[in-house]
Amino acid sequence: MHLLQLGAGSGGIAVLDLVARDPRITHITLIEPDVYQPHNVYRHLFPPSAVGQLKAELARQWVETLRPDIHFHTLIADITAPQRQAEFARCAAACDVGVCAADNEAAKFAFDALLRAAGKPWTLGEVLSGGIGGWVHRFLPQAACYGCVASYLQREVVEQPAGPPPDYNQPQAAITETTIPASKAAIAVIASLHAVATLELLDPAGESEPACPEAVPGFTSLLVSLRVVPGVFEVPYRTHRLVIPRSADCLTCGPTAALPTGDALDAAVDDALARLGSR
Ligand SMILES: [Zn+2]
Repeated sequence: MHLLQLGAGSGGIAVLDLVARDPRITHITLIEPDVYQPHNVYRHLFPPSAVGQLKAELARQWVETLRPDIHFHTLIADITAPQRQAEFARCAAACDVGVCAADNEAAKFAFDALLRAAGKPWTLGEVLSGGIGGWVHRFLPQAACYGCVASYLQREVVEQPAGPPPDYNQPQAAITETTIPASKAAIAVIASLHAVATLELLDPAGESEPACPEAVPGFTSLLVSLRVVPGVFEVPYRTHRLVIPRSADCLTCGPTAALPTGDALDAAVDDALARLGSR
């Protein structure tokens, strides 16, 4: 099976390391433009001597050491780059499952648009600022898009202040990048859950033949607390499962939505961003 992954930062490389060990994965395409920096070393797999090399190349070498049989293709590119979209669309069409480990909203929306247009399932992991917890989201072709999930989480805060589970009231924090560095331990917890959820999409029934991804039960978004933070998490090590529906008027995934391309894709992204409000 073919994995398309976006991002090989501290979380992305941890997910990639775990998923790439599964023998069902035979092809990997990794989109990652960044160079390994000195400040990455503390939470990443690679030593200080790797600073200055491309993260994608380091990831390729790491995976090929584990799995010499795997076909590993790197794209040194920004997922939002307009001139590369046709190439990215071909990658999405060729993959069986996607992993998003991007750290910014534009990249998540772009990845969602590509995988949705290709009709492929994908997963997203997000570590909360300071490593207090994190999210794992699953996106299936017939289910809510990233814009629906992001706006749902924010609406819950605005419209239902008493409604959320008692352990958190700031789900919007999950879709911002970690502004306070998380420990590698916290990153690894969320990355491991992200990897498990990804592998489940390959074979949700635990059978030898991949089952229909739409059959995966349980959750759209899984929130995990790792620490007590007053007003956010009252209890550590607790999970919340959210099943988030498609927004009926979503231009990206709603019943009347066509597969967006070109200007329509730009409009859909603008719409989704607008529904995210002030972010
Ligand atoms: Zn949607």
